[in-house]
Amino acid sequence: MAVVNEAVEKTLTVTVNGREVKAAPGQTVLEVARSIGVEIPTLCHDDRLEPYGACRLCLVEVEGARGPVPACATKVGDGMTVQTNTDKIRRLRKFVIELLLSNHPLDCPVCEAAGDCRLQDYAYEYEVNMSPWGWHPLQFESRDDHPNIARNPNRCILCGRCVRICRDVMGIGCWGFTNRGYDTIIDTPYNLPLEEVGCVSCGQCISTCPVGALSMKRSRYAARHWQTDKTTTICPYCGVGCEVVVHTHRDALVRTTATVGRGVNNGNLCVKGRFGFDFQNSPDRLTAPLVRDENGDLVPTTWDVALDRVEQNFKRIKAESGGSAFAVLASAKCTNEENYVLQKFTRAVLGTNNMDHCARL
Ligand code: SF4
Ligand code: SF4
Ligand code: SF4
Repeated sequence: MAVVNEAVEKTLTVTVNGREVKAAPGQTVLEVARSIGVEIPTLCHDDRLEPYGACRLCLVEVEGARGPVPACATKVGDGMTVQTNTDKIRRLRKFVIELLLSNHPLDCPVCEAAGDCRLQDYAYEYEVNMSPWGWHPLQFESRDDHPNIARNPNRCILCGRCVRICRDVMGIGCWGFTNRGYDTIIDTPYNLPLEEVGCVSCGQCISTCPVGALSMKRSRYAARHWQTDKTTTICPYCGVGCEVVVHTHRDALVRTTATVGRGVNNGNLCVKGRFGFDFQNSPDRLTAPLVRDENGDLVPTTWDVALDRVEQNFKRIKAESGGSAFAVLASAKCTNEENYVLQKFTRAVLGTNNMDHCARL
């Protein structure tokens, strides 16, 4: 993974587009350029992964080199001079995008990624009209065998990010390249259903896919990327505290994502944080406390009434049977501070050490 320790002293001097910049040994041209706000296009790069150098979109010119080099996979050296946006480089990038579009379905109006698609962005930025070699869209059959992941192999640009993130970050390896040449496709071993090859539904492959080949099934057709309000918050599920971005549209939560480089999770989530959000919009969701009436039926009430009832019963049980009549189970959904207060309440107020935590079970 191309991670540079911020503590490493920046002892190298590099010139990017005529501007001198200090860099640390081990940094790539891409990292150094981005550190001064120079954007270089990439399709196969993800900061969570090792440099791959496959898409050839990040080609730059380095003085003294025999030809253009990939910025993502080239380490800077002292005195290096780099040009990232010459006419030659722009022509090469346009050529790569033209090749990609020559067999791409171009179904942006119904594609889940439209508005948040790097291929769409770069085709526009590099003024690619249509491929000079004609248009021969791929016609692979789509598979629909996973509850959370929608696959469209015809939109795949074979960047390998899903393959690498599942293998290198998750340590699983559900995906691989199958066949060769124009028939190459991303698939599971022996074409098995995804759930039969160890998929844990983390959605990391969706999060890294730069186009609409992998997308979130549950939020299809819910809202375009630009239509949603985005709120950065903490996942409500467990004590790890992953940072999530909640996307809402028309008063409904339509998807959650995570941002690479942010929070303890660095863009990664588990199945709950990534896909377990539809309970928010469920009509069955409890929105008020319930207490039993004189007939034993549960009826909605206020928190004051419910907590009074709890207090009365706790006092009665303690008076009748002592503290050992209680047992308390703490939750990983709570913060450390909340769990600390709960154990204090259990020991000091209820008068028992009968306490455990769900994460220990
Ligand atoms: S993957 Fe991108 S370019 Fe391809 S159809 Fe979807 S939005 Fe359009
Ligand atoms: S959801 Fe996670 S485990 Fe499943 S294929 Fe994608 S990266 Fe691999
Ligand atoms: S499915 Fe997406 S991430 Fe995987 S190789 Fe294709 S374009 Fe890349």
